Amino acid sequence: MPIKILPDEVASQIAAGEVVERPASVVKELVENSLDAGATHITITVEGAGQKLIEVADDGLGIPAKEISMALARHATSKLSSAADLFNIETLGFRGEALASIASVSRFTITSRTRESEVGARLVVEGGQIDSDVQPIGAPAGTVVRVEDLFYNVPARRKFLKTDSTERRQIDDLVTRYALAYPDVRFHLSQEGRSALQTTGSGDRREVLAALFSTDIARQMLEVNAVYDESRVSGYISPTSLTRSNRRGITLFVNGRWVQDISLSTALIQGYHSMLMVGRYPMAVMFIDLPPKQVDVNVHPAKSEVRFTNRDDVFSSVQRAVRRALLAYSPVPPVQGQVRWSPPEPQPGFDKGGWQRPSGGQSSFSPDHATTPQPPEKSQPVVQPPLSAGGVPLLRLIGQVGSAYLVAEGPDGLYLVDQHAAHERILFERFMEQRSQQIPSQALLDPATVELDSASARLLEDQAEVMKNLGFEIEPFGPNTFKVRRMPSLLAGSDPVAAVRSVIEDFEEDETPLQNEIEAKIIGRVCKRAAVKAGKVLSVDEQKALLRDLEACQSPRTCPHGRPTMIHLSIDLLERQFGRTGPR
Ligand code: ADP
Ligand code: MG
Repeated sequence: MPIKILPDEVASQIAAGEVVERPASVVKELVENSLDAGATHITITVEGAGQKLIEVADDGLGIPAKEISMALARHATSKLSSAADLFNIETLGFRGEALASIASVSRFTITSRTRESEVGARLVVEGGQIDSDVQPIGAPAGTVVRVEDLFYNVPARRKFLKTDSTERRQIDDLVTRYALAYPDVRFHLSQEGRSALQTTGSGDRREVLAALFSTDIARQMLEVNAVYDESRVSGYISPTSLTRSNRRGITLFVNGRWVQDISLSTALIQGYHSMLMVGRYPMAVMFIDLPPKQVDVNVHPAKSEVRFTNRDDVFSSVQRAVRRALLAYSPVPPVQGQVRWSPPEPQPGFDKGGWQRPSGGQSSFSPDHATTPQPPEKSQPVVQPPLSAGGVPLLRLIGQVGSAYLVAEGPDGLYLVDQHAAHERILFERFMEQRSQQIPSQALLDPATVELDSASARLLEDQAEVMKNLGFEIEPFGPNTFKVRRMPSLLAGSDPVAAVRSVIEDFEEDETPLQNEIEAKIIGRVCKRAAVKAGKVLSVDEQKALLRDLEACQSPRTCPHGRPTMIHLSIDLLERQFGRTGPR
């Protein structure tokens, strides 16, 4: 076939494929136009899951009658005039493509009136063909776009649509997210004749949050609000106790634009570093606002991706903001109701520090001789349990069980501490702390040799710099073989070969290889390997030291991989279990 320029209709259908993938994308473009027009009230009506009708009505600026047919041409926009403007975009639209694209794949009617003009104007377009002249018509100020029979002329597209309920949910999700991002705008969405979302435009985001998540979840979400130089990170994130198995609970807005950016959501997740179980993800609605010059929005026809001039700065602002919010609210669990506790009287068999054998050779339990502790009276004064820096109550060691768990008493009950997870957490935090300076390292008297397969050897070479920063001195020693000469002092006594191997074991390429994060990840691995194993008998002094060190941690309740370090059995729970409270 000879080369020819495609007819306009074909060209716009091709372009439409990129912009208008499904009914929800039509809703997105139209809502964005309304927001750009300064609307304070946007009403969206959907029928037939968006295939029969999508109508978006707003009270925005409107379009002058003489420009209305222009609005429907491709590359026609009022939001941009020179190429330079492209790098300083303050509106949601700028490509001048949406209306033309939508009109080319539907029966399309636009009605608009500016505040200055007395009559409105209407234009009807069918499958991209302008049907009639612009008609004068009485209309309220603002714009109404009606999109009927979407994809009627592109049957192939219809085939790719999901079930009606999925398409409807996509629209619900989309409108809810925009309502969250623009709390000052009143949104009303009705689907199949029923009201699906109604916001008041009062400016209160939490009100909308309940529509996106449930009321219960919305209530638990933590507020984030941080300003860094010219940028600002705000929104809501889930506490560590609320997670999902995928990233879909994360919504990100950059300068008022909903973006899907894996690396940005990764940065957010990394803010939770070591606080979540492996494979669990937080929920969040996060708004990142920065000077338009620092964001390139012209990356994708659907404008759902952006690029940042200072990517690392943006990522680290997000991480820091998340971290700060988490540390401010967690990990102290809420002290429920009244805590009934008074400092325990010294009792036979116990001393302030730990468990001792009852003196006098008495080795069997004899209830007659034990002072029976009385259940505390309800009227006793409320004592706030003393908390250590990291929010764990100061614990009194009772002993070790199963060579794996420490048993301790806190003011609010019994604690079982997993010795391996706890030690992992302690090592991890020490490393992270030392990392701000030079991590002290120790020469090995007897340098160890590690032999690796070639893929692992390449990985180790790639991470050479990181390993050096962490206090390892590793040098090549023949093909795929390395000599470990020094290792971090923190790991003194542990097996250097095992430590090096743990670094590269199942090291998958991270989605965002922020140097910082690679290091943290490696530290996490090394600590896991080096931490005291379950099955090791610890001396009383070692047990005590472990508890003290854990109390001093910033996030003592989880190991760096997110597993709990301790289980708490409250006095309340014990009382209930023994039938001391509640109905008898
Ligand atoms: P873009 O939004 O990228 O400029 P569109 O095709 O979405 O491109 O819209 C074309 C133009 O039509 C816009 O630049 C704007 O001037 C006008 N327009 C579209 N929708 C509205 C609306 N709801 N209110 C006012 N003007 C609108
Ligand atoms: Mg637009």
